[in-house]
Amino acid sequence: MKGFAMLGVNKAGWIEKEKPVAGPIDAIVKPLAVSPCTSDIHTVFEGALGERHNMILGHEAVGEVVEVGSEVKDFKPGDKVVVPAVTPDWRSMEVQAGYPQHSNGMLAGWKFSNFKDGVFADYFHVNDADMNLALLPDEIPVQNAVMISDMMTTGFHGAELADIQLGSSVAVIGIGAVGLMSVAGARMRGAGRIIGVGTRPACVEAAKFYGATDIVNYKKGDIAEQILDMTNGKGVDRVIIAGGKGEVLAQAVKMVKPGGTVSNVNYHGSGDYLPIPRIEWGCGMAHKTIKGGLCPGGRLRMEMLIDLVRYNRVDLSKLVTHVYHGFEHIDEALMLMKDKPKDLIKPVVIVD
Ligand code: NDP
Ligand code: ZN
Repeated sequence: MKGFAMLGVNKAGWIEKEKPVAGPIDAIVKPLAVSPCTSDIHTVFEGALGERHNMILGHEAVGEVVEVGSEVKDFKPGDKVVVPAVTPDWRSMEVQAGYPQHSNGMLAGWKFSNFKDGVFADYFHVNDADMNLALLPDEIPVQNAVMISDMMTTGFHGAELADIQLGSSVAVIGIGAVGLMSVAGARMRGAGRIIGVGTRPACVEAAKFYGATDIVNYKKGDIAEQILDMTNGKGVDRVIIAGGKGEVLAQAVKMVKPGGTVSNVNYHGSGDYLPIPRIEWGCGMAHKTIKGGLCPGGRLRMEMLIDLVRYNRVDLSKLVTHVYHGFEHIDEALMLMKDKPKDLIKPVVIVD
């Protein structure tokens, strides 16, 4: 079969591989729609995960089941499914401890395009199909549904980790697709003021659509200073980081109130350390909590997010700005994610 792979740091291209084989509880799926992620860019072009030779990329997919193992109960060939970016090993101690994303090792629930071949292939393998796949209802178009697998679960996790209370003021640093879903998640959780940080016009417009009350342009000065100015020097209750490089963590700590929470879902792809400003962190005594998390995956999470879309709580169509037909366009779509033109939020490739 064909797959679009990371050939080495800074190199991506098509390769031929053997079609994967399903174990007793697994499934083989063929993609119906896929989307490249900014994480694929960190992985290939920043070498963020180190060298990965000939590893097929991609972890955002909606697909059709083509084969199931002998013990799979709830799925059969022909089923249309949402495949989460994170597919934990559900029989692991980390799951019992409440952290499936880290089943059998830190970040090890994130398998596609990290520890095994991803979804940019004619076929891909899904571990523990009954626990990791979710049926896609017909009324959700595949190009929107593919946003559930990663963008929605990640952005919403930013809002969950931030522990937003009714009326909390929230800054969302980065309003790409992930940050936009954090804006939507913050609004759903009852945030009052929501300040989005970003510049691309398509993202700014979408941020207002999803619930941002204010927009800050990071190119017009330090964002901590801008947000402190907008809040009479007090700062915000919660910060969600969904973009930028390491220094945004320092800025987040500066702009969050004592007792507040900084929630990071950004993938910090380079450098050995992230900065925490000593004074603004109250010399370690400010009760400013810093959390960071990989997106939740698995079947239940997907089913719950699918319901939010199905019952019109969230309109995912606003995230999808570029649609390609035909698998061969994956490299173009990936390069769009690298170059981030002004009109881009997310590209989707529909595999006709
Ligand atoms: P985008 O590149 O589309 O969006 C990034 C956003 O950050 C843009 O709004 C951009 O502004 C803004 N930004 C860039 N530089 C700065 C800066 N210096 N200060 C403030 N804002 C800045 O990324 P995605 O939305 O696709 O992904 C966001 C991050 O989430 C990525 O790092 C990605 O790898 C990660 N991720 C994490 C996952 C997880 O499980 N935790 C899962 C999926 C993705 P502008 O409008 O100018 O472009
Ligand atoms: Zn991703």
